[in-house]
Amino acid sequence: MAVDLKFIPERRTVVGKDPFQFHCHAGVGCFTNCCRKLELYLYPYDVLRLKNSLGLRSTEFMRAHARIAPGSHPFFPAVMLNMRDNVDNSCPFLGTEGCTVYKDRPSACRTYPLERAVEKQADRQGMTVYYFMTHHDYCHGHQEERTYTVSQWERDQFLYEYNLMNDAWAEVDAFFATNPWQGEGAAGPRQQLAFMVCYNLDEFRLYAARHNLLRLFRMDRDRRRRIERDDGELLRFGFDWLQFVLGDRPTLQPL
Ligand code: SF4
Ligand code: SF4
Repeated sequence: MAVDLKFIPERRTVVGKDPFQFHCHAGVGCFTNCCRKLELYLYPYDVLRLKNSLGLRSTEFMRAHARIAPGSHPFFPAVMLNMRDNVDNSCPFLGTEGCTVYKDRPSACRTYPLERAVEKQADRQGMTVYYFMTHHDYCHGHQEERTYTVSQWERDQFLYEYNLMNDAWAEVDAFFATNPWQGEGAAGPRQQLAFMVCYNLDEFRLYAARHNLLRLFRMDRDRRRRIERDDGELLRFGFDWLQFVLGDRPTLQPL
């Protein structure tokens, strides 16, 4: 997700502080055009939200709806949503009235027509965020009168939690790009462990209980309780734990 402004793909423009013209609603002639014939990458938090929305365990969700794809670097795969095998290759969650998982739709869907990228600053103390505007001929929302600034769009689309989790994921994926598998290669035990934490959270919950992981690290009782009850908190802990065990990073303090 790091970005080099020299390489912004065609048909995208950088969005700054000025408002942009866009409105998407059920009355537009192109309604749900963007939910067909698309390549949709799922980040770990997307999978978490979707599997909970559908009432599925993460293994069931992954088996029914997702596939492995080449990642942004050779050392960890990406995950993509399987489209329906119909003439439109429509999204499996597209219903007659629109998106059936709207409250939990993936990051890419809620960010569209924008795309978001983050770049780690040289001092590693912070990140610079970029938004790009996509320009697809099939999308007529650009001709509507309403305008938004990027922060209004983030608020309107409830992007805050998604962006927070995706930024944490960007950090972990950048760590995976350093090939921390200690010579095991792709799909070795360490990489499988990492894949479980990122995309198979229900299994990671069982693993964490079996190995008493939460008792091995210094953390206050509130955080421990939140991790025990909340999948998002467990995912955050999993990201910290992977960097600690695989990269010896000080993301957790052992007791
Ligand atoms: S998840 Fe919802 S918004 Fe996203 S492509 Fe599928 S139907 Fe469309
Ligand atoms: S194509 Fe654009 S305007 Fe039409 S439904 Fe999708 S996002 Fe909205």
